[in-house]
Amino acid sequence: MKRVPVIAANWKMYKSKDEALEFIFKVNQAVPSNEVVESIVFPPAVFLNLLVKREGENLRIGAQNMHYADEGAFTGENSPMHVKTAGAEYVLVGHSERRIYYNEVSETVNLKLISAFRNDLIPILCVGETLEIKEEKRTQEFVNHQVEKALINVDKEYIPKLIVAYEPRWAIGTGKNATAKEASGVITHIREKIASLYSKELSEEVRIIYGGSVKPSNIEEILKEKEIDGALIGGAALDPENFIFFTQVA
Ligand code: PEP
Repeated sequence: MKRVPVIAANWKMYKSKDEALEFIFKVNQAVPSNEVVESIVFPPAVFLNLLVKREGENLRIGAQNMHYADEGAFTGENSPMHVKTAGAEYVLVGHSERRIYYNEVSETVNLKLISAFRNDLIPILCVGETLEIKEEKRTQEFVNHQVEKALINVDKEYIPKLIVAYEPRWAIGTGKNATAKEASGVITHIREKIASLYSKELSEEVRIIYGGSVKPSNIEEILKEKEIDGALIGGAALDPENFIFFTQVA
């Protein structure tokens, strides 16, 4: 099955308003059409409204995080309704920086995934092992467990919309990437896990991408692997020229 590749830029807590607008201005006209590549930028939440995809433009916008509740007394949080109203179409769920610094646990990741689907947002579910787990050779067991926990009570009707990002924690922001073969192996097993939870047909529709120190010098080798449906990129995708390059080789 042919899956549309995904190139996603996680801006984390970077860029001023002027830098954000300059990026969008440069990139909007240069990225391929959505039928060829889904090009998505995840800016800080306060910029969502400013940067939202306009009619006729190919670049899409997503939120880096959201609360799972539709509303409530949760000071400082954004609900899926806020994220959607601001114009986001995608949301990152369970990014490792959320898991490490903000107590994001499997239960909240699961609730956020369900909430994203219910609110018609496309979630990118982030999973990945620590260096310790890798050294213990427990990567697949750990990642499969994360996928299984995240998908509890997720109805099969939503599975074709799901995007999973395999992001080894030891590779995020470190300059050390998993090899294309390593990433492809883990991704193949993630797909098998989803097949065992739903069906082979549905698992074939899920886009599973790689993230962790992707840069212009390694993206082509990574995307050559047919199991890898794209990339989630942090540091290197802050540069608009790099981002355009990533979408062109996808
Ligand atoms: C990320 O933030 O998801 C990420 C993969 O970052 P980097 O590309 O900088 O490793």
